[in-house]
Amino acid sequence: MKIILVGIQGAGKSTQGNLLSKKLNIPYLSTGHIFRVLAREKTPLGRYIKETMNAGYLIPDKKTVEIVSDYLKRDTYGNGYILDGFPRTLEQVKMFKNGVDKVIYLKVSDKEALWRLSYRNGSGREDETLIAIRKRIELFHRLTEPVLDYYRKIGILVEIDGEKSIEEIFKEILKNLQRHKRIEK
Ligand code: AMP
Repeated sequence: MKIILVGIQGAGKSTQGNLLSKKLNIPYLSTGHIFRVLAREKTPLGRYIKETMNAGYLIPDKKTVEIVSDYLKRDTYGNGYILDGFPRTLEQVKMFKNGVDKVIYLKVSDKEALWRLSYRNGSGREDETLIAIRKRIELFHRLTEPVLDYYRKIGILVEIDGEKSIEEIFKEILKNLQRHKRIEK
């Protein structure tokens, strides 16, 4: 099964992604992590990615889709994946050919996310400055909300209240995925 996790930074995507991964036995990966690894490379691409990430901007669509599609070709992801942080723009949706079964949107308010992020400060991420976080939230509303509309229209979007407890959210997600499986049969 190919699952996409969407939500602003601080919505709990990696927490739920890791729980789902264990439960469903499907690997979890995030584009943020892929880019943070690439940003360590002392190459022009590495330096470019690092600067872009630290400012909270998005890596250009074409480059992003190339990198992600390439990554997903690995054997590990042959039976599906739980992908966090991609696609983030309609362009990425159009260019991505790997398939998506279900899109889980963890909905939290900007205020709640900012509060959570200030609370968890100290994650050590160089790209987690307040300016970068605010930029990412702004870009989410502008560029990623149309992605949600798209998946809603084709009937594969699941909206989850991300302000509930971790356990409640997890249960809610599983309930929705089971419903999906029944329809598939
Ligand atoms: P995240 O950890 O998901 O907040 O991602 C951190 C940074 O990685 C973002 O601010 C972007 O610079 C880059 N990034 C992650 N996913 C994408 C994507 N789908 N498209 C473009 N840039 C991305």
